[in-house]
Amino acid sequence: MTQDTLQDWLSAFRHRAVAAGISADTLGLALTSVGFRDDVLEKERNQAEFTRRIWDYLDRAVSNERIAAGRTALQTHRDLLDRIETHYGVDRQIVVAIWGLESNFGAVRGDVPTIAALATLAATNRRGAYFESELIAALRIVQAGDVAASGLKGSWAGAMGHTQFMPSNYLTLAVDFDGDGRRDIWGNDPTDALASTAAYLAKWGWQKKQAWGVEIVLPQGFDYGLAGDKVQKPVAEWQALGVIRAGSEALPDHGPAWVLLPGGARGAAFLICPNFHVIEHYNRADAYVLAVGHLGDRIMGGGPILTPWPCDLRALTRDEGIDLQHRLTQAGFDTGGADGRIGPRTQNALRAFQTSLGLVPDGFASAEILSHLPAKRDQA
Ligand code: CA
Repeated sequence: MTQDTLQDWLSAFRHRAVAAGISADTLGLALTSVGFRDDVLEKERNQAEFTRRIWDYLDRAVSNERIAAGRTALQTHRDLLDRIETHYGVDRQIVVAIWGLESNFGAVRGDVPTIAALATLAATNRRGAYFESELIAALRIVQAGDVAASGLKGSWAGAMGHTQFMPSNYLTLAVDFDGDGRRDIWGNDPTDALASTAAYLAKWGWQKKQAWGVEIVLPQGFDYGLAGDKVQKPVAEWQALGVIRAGSEALPDHGPAWVLLPGGARGAAFLICPNFHVIEHYNRADAYVLAVGHLGDRIMGGGPILTPWPCDLRALTRDEGIDLQHRLTQAGFDTGGADGRIGPRTQNALRAFQTSLGLVPDGFASAEILSHLPAKRDQA
């Protein structure tokens, strides 16, 4: 892909954009100087929450510096957070934690031109249709006059402003909370962005004063087939199976719950609640959701994760992840494609494979598991 092929793609795209209701004027303003972004594709290949080991990711995401900055933000914006919590019913620490993860509390909002990033991804990515629909949404924002095309900036993936809203989410959910007539998620004042984030979480069903999850300790002989997103039980049933909270407190009941093992059977275990799945609407990587939830807890004075991580295990590189997905699918355990991201479908396939061999079915994609699977046959 080069600048020329991007221009070819854009000329075809213009017709689709017009059909979707984008005016020639807007297209002229927004697309004229759009350039191909190599850096966007490079970043797309190296997403930290999918390629870094969970414990390395959490160390950086929930560092002491970020916890301290989050506590400061909670004080500085106390009145605003009071109003947001009252209006949307979303706990302040989650809004602040997302702000911390997405832009380091507004310090790193991203300066990649959103339209160029989305055009590059739409023209080259296997999820091109998704990025094209976000590109159309970005053009609608320009057309509506919320911001000039040049002011539309953010991350390599098209996410914008303090809490990194995608354009389609901006269109449907961003709010003008300070009442100045503009929904401004890009400027220095985080008011609209934080309220918009709360509106987003509320829309997906956030339940106030309910935990995202808690760290637990599993009993000896726990059936690891019960871990993962397929088995949901009331807390009382998990308790009856011998699940206890890590530390000295009682296991809280925040609705139906699942067991999550982000570092495999040897790492910390969590009982996750419906609010965990609400945060997934922001970013569905387990590492990200855990980081948001845990950072929120720490900002409010909660303690660290107690169970040590199996730091001797090597996580898979992206290429090894793709290889694992090919090998599992070839062995009859469908991973629903091979993109190197170890999501729920791959974890479930891995669990089924581990069960078939009599291994602990924790669904954890370590380098060791590859050695149990025959190499991928070349396509004929
Ligand atoms: Ca405003």
